[in-house]
Amino acid sequence: MTWKVYCPHCNKNNLKFRQEQKLEGYDFLVPDLKQNKREWIDCLDCNLSFSTPRLTKRQLEFMYDNYRSESFRGESPDEYFDRITNYPPEESENYQKMVWIKDKINSKFNPNKILDIGSGGGVLLHTLGNIFLKADLFGVEPTSNFAELSRKRTRANIINGFFDNKTFSDYQFDLITCCQVLEHIDNLNNFVANVSKRLNRGGYLYIEVPDISDFKTLEKTHSRFSEPSHLWYFNADFLCNNLFKNVLLLIDYSVLKTVRNRNNLMILFQKD
Ligand SMILES: [Zn+2]
Repeated sequence: MTWKVYCPHCNKNNLKFRQEQKLEGYDFLVPDLKQNKREWIDCLDCNLSFSTPRLTKRQLEFMYDNYRSESFRGESPDEYFDRITNYPPEESENYQKMVWIKDKINSKFNPNKILDIGSGGGVLLHTLGNIFLKADLFGVEPTSNFAELSRKRTRANIINGFFDNKTFSDYQFDLITCCQVLEHIDNLNNFVANVSKRLNRGGYLYIEVPDISDFKTLEKTHSRFSEPSHLWYFNADFLCNNLFKNVLLLIDYSVLKTVRNRNNLMILFQKD
């Protein structure tokens, strides 16, 4: 069967249909959302899984401005921040990922500057600041309410906007973290180039994304699949052997099942 669509990453059409997704209830988020369903498709050449159709950059920007700013789950911003940062270690996803990262990184690693891309309300920056007490903290976050919360509750320098080649361009970083962000990025190659440019030699990049194994273990109707701002689904092969290949050095990767039963792919890269 020949598909009319091509892989947006490698432009080939060796594709395999994975599943159809309804997009009901999202028209208020994206006023010009014409379609009420989309498909998830696997590229058998480069191993990227992509949604088709996908929101445009303009539609994505509208969503982050309007929808995400309301998403404190019925709590005040401060209640949200306090709840997440007060979880005991065994229930804290932030704590688990820090243990994983610290285990791979040289124990003498002492970053001067840390950047969190998509820093949300600042809960990861808070944890990073407690572990790396002397590091200067930086965050970039497109949703203004989240950016405001992280300014208030952490000591980080926060930009309210999207990460691009101008973001903190006067600085180089020893550690960049980027959690649940890559699946929202429309131009993956640009993003990788910009991240790599901001890293010091010997510096680390920690990436965390929903793992493709979600399709096996979560209900077909799960919000991870229907969330319209999720453009891609990743496996380790695509990220390690394709997207970041020849850009950064792979240190390690792992798939972690979270307390909410989601599969997160965690990858640590280093700049050579
Ligand atoms: Zn492809």
